[in-house]
Amino acid sequence: MTGAGRAGNGWRTARLGHFIGGDWVAAGSGRTYLDHSPWSGAVLCEVAAGDAEDAHRAIEAAHAAFGGWAGESPWRRQQIFLRAADILEGRRAEVLDALADETGCGRHFGDVQFDFTLRLLRQAAHLAYRPVGELLPSDVEGTQAMAVRRPVGVVAAIAPWNASLTLAGRAIVGPLALGNTVVLKPSEEAPYTGGALWAEILHEAGLPAGVLNVVTHAPGEAGDIGDAMLANPLVKRINFTGSTPTGRRLAEKAGRHLKRVVLQLSGQNPLIVARDAEVGYAVDAAAYGAFVHQGQVCMCARRVYVERPLAEEFAERFAAKVAALPTGDPHDPETVVGPVINEWALALLDRRVNEAVELGARVLAGGVPRPPCYPATVLTDVPDKAEIAHGETFGPVVILEAVDSAEEAVARANRSDLGLAASIITGDSRRGLRLAAKLDVGIVHVNDQPVNDEPHMPFGGVKDSGWGRFGLGFAAEEFCELQWVTVRDQDRTFPF
Ligand code: ADP
Repeated sequence: MTGAGRAGNGWRTARLGHFIGGDWVAAGSGRTYLDHSPWSGAVLCEVAAGDAEDAHRAIEAAHAAFGGWAGESPWRRQQIFLRAADILEGRRAEVLDALADETGCGRHFGDVQFDFTLRLLRQAAHLAYRPVGELLPSDVEGTQAMAVRRPVGVVAAIAPWNASLTLAGRAIVGPLALGNTVVLKPSEEAPYTGGALWAEILHEAGLPAGVLNVVTHAPGEAGDIGDAMLANPLVKRINFTGSTPTGRRLAEKAGRHLKRVVLQLSGQNPLIVARDAEVGYAVDAAAYGAFVHQGQVCMCARRVYVERPLAEEFAERFAAKVAALPTGDPHDPETVVGPVINEWALALLDRRVNEAVELGARVLAGGVPRPPCYPATVLTDVPDKAEIAHGETFGPVVILEAVDSAEEAVARANRSDLGLAASIITGDSRRGLRLAAKLDVGIVHVNDQPVNDEPHMPFGGVKDSGWGRFGLGFAAEEFCELQWVTVRDQDRTFPF
């Protein structure tokens, strides 16, 4: 297996190998699996089904490449990321198609991912000239002290399928630009757009062999590779984007190996509508925030709280808008709600909505699966004991709730174990800021919905939504080691 992706060949002939040490190689075991389209069910490509042995090979290749890459001139490193952006830009139509085919990503969210990724690459290019160190005052006469930032070595990156291009990009570009080498493990649902595509582009842009390596695996076999990354002492950091249960298991094991992890996990994100909000704007914001990419974004609004004077009008207008959202083929530019990622996700949505309804919830829109899609769905009167009221249900379902005050909404939202993103829509921005300060979340947007990201922003959650921050401006804290170095300009006297 040598396939470097689908460029020019179409999916049917695509065979994806691992990318290790600058070569496309088969899994050591020779095993493969088939990657399917969530919309049509068609086989897209045959993918290397890797295991721990493959992961160790990739880690060794990354380790071998580290010295050369870390010592490379900043200018040369910078040029690679700028070239990669140009190469990607020239492949827009083909990449948007691949995102639709592989992950059911519609045109709008494909554009969002694509534009974010171009900015990510171009902004990351300047990281080659960072990180900067500091000269520190010392009380020891004759000692000059410095704090020097150095790349850590091999970074392992575990990425999800939902925003495959950007989330794999975010997991690798910052660490690479800072002088680290990387082993990327994409999701089994997105081995091309979240894995091999990155190897193609960065390799073509001139990234030296071994600096980025990609190892894929069959469904259900991620743990083997994850465990190898955790256990291998050559891996100095792991970044993980995915669900809280998986992140928690990873962090528990990382603790045993004393390995630092950056975790970006689930959200149960509130959108609060104050009584002085403009209803039309609030309805549009909530519909976008809850249903962009069929609700399969960690920042999506999962609960909409509306202050009571506005609750009835909001519910009526929101339900009408949501019921009319076009659902179907992700390749159709009119589609808003495309397919969910797989049958398992569809069944889970159906089960959780049905359970909520059996416990007394009312369906204001949607609620009946249309395989492979689940339509945009609004539930209200959801009892606290319903499964959907807790944790994250990753799909196009939102819970609507009337509250006496936005302060009550904040208190209710803060009861969640999760704390990723939130938003508040109000005519009084100063009240919005006061409420923002009380929300236990990593990200708050006043007078917007919660789905926003820019490459340089401090993206991340609190509580069970994760540790650490992505964001190019903050990556140096996560993916560099700070070393204290001193040099004496005269001999000192020792007491013995
Ligand atoms: P999602 O529901 O979004 O797929 P997951 O947390 O299951 O969320 O998956 C996110 C990423 O974590 C994917 O790349 C997946 O393959 C990977 N993953 C799943 N289980 C493990 C594991 N035990 N160890 C390491 N990575 C894992």
